Amino acid sequence: MSAPVDNCHTRIDLRRYAVIPVWYGCNSSCTICMLSNVRGKLGTVDFADFSMLITRLVNERRYDSLILSGAEVTTFSQLEQYVRYAASFGWFRKIQIQTNGRRLADREYVKQLVDAGVNEFFVSVHGLGDIHDAITRIPGSYAAVMAGIANLAEFPVHVISNTVLTASNCDGLVALFAELSASPVHEMQLWNFFPMERTDRRDLVVSMSGLKALLPGIASAIAPSGKTLVLKGFPECLSPESPCFVNSDFPLNLIQDDFWFEFAKNGFGACVHRERCSSRECWGLSNAYIEKYGDERTLLSPRTASGGAGS
Ligand code: SF4
Repeated sequence: MSAPVDNCHTRIDLRRYAVIPVWYGCNSSCTICMLSNVRGKLGTVDFADFSMLITRLVNERRYDSLILSGAEVTTFSQLEQYVRYAASFGWFRKIQIQTNGRRLADREYVKQLVDAGVNEFFVSVHGLGDIHDAITRIPGSYAAVMAGIANLAEFPVHVISNTVLTASNCDGLVALFAELSASPVHEMQLWNFFPMERTDRRDLVVSMSGLKALLPGIASAIAPSGKTLVLKGFPECLSPESPCFVNSDFPLNLIQDDFWFEFAKNGFGACVHRERCSSRECWGLSNAYIEKYGDERTLLSPRTASGGAGS
């Protein structure tokens, strides 16, 4: 497991977080949506169930940070009520929302959320300009999310950007991270694409050799900012140079079982070196990846107990 903190760069520790997806409405139509097959089966978490989950988390004293997600949680009319309730216990160090960021372009709405108790924003930005708009299938969504990030800078909140790696955006990632690192984002995250199926039918999965080739350019682009890029859901032996890190930690996710049935189709964790490798939480490769690119036995390398690359 990667350490969440090193000498130079702090980044959020998802092991301290619990996620409650409360609502499955959305105002975008992303090509990469991991809920598209299952949204119709998942119901809104009503206030009685939400308060029961929050009470349980507070009493357990294990997760001191909370994430409210959706589909798009800012389209949920009771969001402020839910946040106020969670904040009223005084237990959660962080209350984060995961969002496509479009509604954050409304500064007054941001203020309402912050006043209710949101102090961390995880905002999706999948590419510069037209690349982002093509992925969300909403013209103008890039301008809206960047206006939202600018609004967040006026409040004492932590901002994390979320980019999902796909064939649609990989060629523009160096430019994107140069832009994000110069913006009021505190930490950037690059998430592996979850195909939510056994075959990459949409041809979105990117090869790990392709990603590896991009990492030095990304590191150079963000280095002047002193900020961090965390890669989530990737083979740990990609071992990028600082300020890029692979981190396999995942929060507790209190989503309904139908989601996990769909998620299992990804088949993450596959690796031919698994038994010889000391990494215990590595995400390895997905079913769709291996079908498309093979098992990458020469690219991946088992790690030693000290965390370095083995032979
Ligand atoms: S060798 Fe396999 S299990 Fe080990 S870090 Fe690489 S991908 Fe993960």
